[in-house]
Amino acid sequence: MKSRDRLRIAMQKSGRLTEPAQDLLARCGLKFRQSRDKLFCFGEGEPVDLLLVRDDDIPGLIAEGVCDLGIVGRNVLREFQLTNGTGSELSELRPLGFGHCRLSIALPQEDAYSEPSQLHGQRIATSYPGLLGEWLRAHGVDARVVMLAGSVEIAPRLGTADAICDLVSSGATLVANQLREAAVVVESEAVLAGRAELPLDERGEIAELLLRRLDGVIQVRDSRLILMQAPRAALDAITRLLPGAPVPTLTQVDGAPDQVVLQALCAGSVSWRQLEDMKRAGARDMLVLPVEKMLA
Ligand code: ATP
Ligand code: ZN
Repeated sequence: MKSRDRLRIAMQKSGRLTEPAQDLLARCGLKFRQSRDKLFCFGEGEPVDLLLVRDDDIPGLIAEGVCDLGIVGRNVLREFQLTNGTGSELSELRPLGFGHCRLSIALPQEDAYSEPSQLHGQRIATSYPGLLGEWLRAHGVDARVVMLAGSVEIAPRLGTADAICDLVSSGATLVANQLREAAVVVESEAVLAGRAELPLDERGEIAELLLRRLDGVIQVRDSRLILMQAPRAALDAITRLLPGAPVPTLTQVDGAPDQVVLQALCAGSVSWRQLEDMKRAGARDMLVLPVEKMLA
């Protein structure tokens, strides 16, 4: 078989991860010929193509070498790693900062929960037997894992399980099914998955270039420029409050030697609470700006 010289990335065809994944690749400068309903998207500028599939198929496609990289939930990747022989060849290359959710154990609302040992002897319904099994072993719990492919949340009401282990984001589905979240098994988000070692050929070079662009895009996306005026005496206190511990740039204010304008590039968002704390420390006229491009 002739080896491919174009990089192939698998992503979800239609679902929660589709739009943010497309958006991320577009920010990395990748353009694809529109064929949303088809399996394949041909990359226009760079030698990078997309395969649009069900999210559950993504780790297997990478393990089999059909694709080089994939954008998939950590929950799906780790489950594959735990339950497939080829799983150990895969790794999480980058967390991508969207598709946040958690795989959690939930109990009927009327059951109080205080510790894992309560789950001894219980039947727990899940589509994630690998991750749940790992959590149960780590907590020394002997429970029965009931494998269900879908509609896990109705199992307790149907009487086919005593508890469930399923994905939760807002918790609204749990409430609607009279369940309460008891323990978090995995904190998940979309990740870039790939083989632990990149190939040493042309495709490996394209992958490396893409990873570098991705790092730049993620860094910019997660950065904020903060500007404020502050009394010199408060600088230490304010600097300690800046997220990501940046080294601020200071500018003198004409006619006010005890005041400075502070400018800092912060890693991560700046919360209202942090702004309030800085204001209490003496800052004023604060501005928090998104960053469009960054070149070191
Ligand atoms: P398909 O198998 O057809 O690709 P799906 O129904 O398995 O789709 P989605 O519901 O779109 O998939 O979820 C894809 C991923 O989105 C999940 O694996 C998970 O990582 C993430 N996710 C984020 N929030 C949630 C949530 N509230 N419920 C389910 N998944 C969520
Ligand atoms: Zn799926």
